Amino acid sequence: MAPFNWSEFLEQYNKKMEGNIKTKRTKIVATLGPATEKKSTITSMIDAGLNMARFNFSHGEHAWHRDIMQNVRDAARDTGASVAVLADFQGPHIRTDIAEPVAVQKGEVVRLFDRSAQKSDIAKSQGDGKVIVIDCPHMVEKLEKGHDIYIEDGLMRLRVTDHIETHVMTEVMAGGIIKNNKGVNIPDADIPLPAMTSKDYDDLSFALEQNVDYVALSFVRDASEVNDLRSYMQKILQRDTDVPKIIAKIERKEAIENLSGILDAVDAVMVARGDLGIETDPTGVTLLQKKIVAEAIHKLKPVIVATQMLASMEHNPRPTRAEIADVTNAVIDHTDAVMLSAETTVGSFPVKTVETMARIAVQTEISPFDDLDHELPLAFDSEEVHVARSAYAFTRTMDARAVVMFSESGYTAQMLSHYRPERLILVATNRQKTYNELALVWGVLPFLFDGTEGREECIEAMIEQAQDEGLLHKGDLVVSILGSTKEGKKLELEGSRIV
Ligand code: PEP
Repeated sequence: MAPFNWSEFLEQYNKKMEGNIKTKRTKIVATLGPATEKKSTITSMIDAGLNMARFNFSHGEHAWHRDIMQNVRDAARDTGASVAVLADFQGPHIRTDIAEPVAVQKGEVVRLFDRSAQKSDIAKSQGDGKVIVIDCPHMVEKLEKGHDIYIEDGLMRLRVTDHIETHVMTEVMAGGIIKNNKGVNIPDADIPLPAMTSKDYDDLSFALEQNVDYVALSFVRDASEVNDLRSYMQKILQRDTDVPKIIAKIERKEAIENLSGILDAVDAVMVARGDLGIETDPTGVTLLQKKIVAEAIHKLKPVIVATQMLASMEHNPRPTRAEIADVTNAVIDHTDAVMLSAETTVGSFPVKTVETMARIAVQTEISPFDDLDHELPLAFDSEEVHVARSAYAFTRTMDARAVVMFSESGYTAQMLSHYRPERLILVATNRQKTYNELALVWGVLPFLFDGTEGREECIEAMIEQAQDEGLLHKGDLVVSILGSTKEGKKLELEGSRIV
């Protein structure tokens, strides 16, 4: 790593921040909600650096999602930005199912039932003390003495002390007020749940109608669940290609154990640190983040680091120093994207939060702390990998400003992004879908391009358009690649030229 000259860095940083925030390399995913439903707010978020709009199907009606997805599409078109739309399904999340909140204190005894229990058994127990019902059939039979049950992001914790035929007795380890419909995690028990619930299938058919770019599968255990979802979408859409890309949310122990297979099957992953920090020891989550990010980059799969990144900005206009450190660390890990949740769904400062995240990302990217002193290895090899690697090496030796390429499927763009080059990755594509999908990929700046006949004309036209978009300037040195489809059209490194 080059020595860090603070004053030189500040000068460079101020120059860059005055310029175009859209050339930041780390992408930003923001979950939309009541605080961010207006088109004008979404437009400001895009101007501040938003790249992907996440719709969390644990909340909201389809009519709401439809209207706000339209606002995203309109805002993206008006600002000329590539913005991806993600439908994130709730998945088999176990929840509390109680009529009234139940206050519990440490040391108290609570009886726990599941949805297979008879109403009469539950009613009878209610006379004997506090009772909680969990909306999950056959859960009780999988519980054993010593298992911990975490409720509402682990705020409350009950430990199984005894197994009675119809229910379990628990001791409150961490008290609080247990409310209805709150998430329940039981990391020690293997509760057989389907990968997609009937609600998820309903949400999926809505998402397919809306032509979303990505779908996220929650609580993934292994690759077969990803393959099943893809086959199902292909069947519904009656085509093999052009189905939404799948993001696997890594939030269970099983997903960590099966990470390699999941990465082979999926299009992208999310380090879902909220549930991951309950399903596994929270003190090790940052290390798991590093492992997942590194393996995803190794296998050429975009990766998102999610949850509580700037959590205090839900209520405050300035983040804590620890939150800034968290985003900085994820950028230094070279994650493709960082994600916002409550900060932008219900937060008081959604635009400022995106702006803050973008500033942290750009500063870190300009600094030497994220510089690579070695080439990141790829898990596979091919002629195309050699071309992408050569283009990357070429931009370094030639000190070029950018690589310009044509990429139909986005695959070539992803390959170049893998090397996390300092130079810009300008990607011309004729497919709106690719244009949207590349919004998630580290460092890639896509633009829509109709294409022309002939190699030379094509390269000239791409460069001209990149100039029109303000991404290249007269005198810049660029390296160009003529890209390919994943299916194997040839990829060629064309050489360098001065704009
Ligand atoms: C998480 O658990 O970190 C996460 C992103 O999942 P969700 O917000 O859907 O619960």
